[in-house]
Amino acid sequence: MTKPKAKPKRPEPSADNQIVRYFHCRQCLEEMPFGTSPRDWAQIEAGSTPIGFQIWCKRHDINICHIDFEGQTHPANLNRKKVLQ
Ligand SMILES: [Zn+2]
Repeated sequence: MTKPKAKPKRPEPSADNQIVRYFHCRQCLEEMPFGTSPRDWAQIEAGSTPIGFQIWCKRHDINICHIDFEGQTHPANLNRKKVLQ
């Protein structure tokens, strides 16, 4: 009889910025003034919806991304990043 494999332990969601790929509004990027960064130009809202999570462009009042969690729940970290003093 073989021993069942242990499920690899996943790290907890971090409160640090670990974004490796950003979501942007395409229209905002097309209209972004020269010398401005997407981070400075973006005007987005992000939040939960009845089916999942949505990112919304406030400037153009359009959807950027709406993720359907398909009824699943996911671990989340809502703590702010610790500030070293
Ligand atoms: Zn936009």
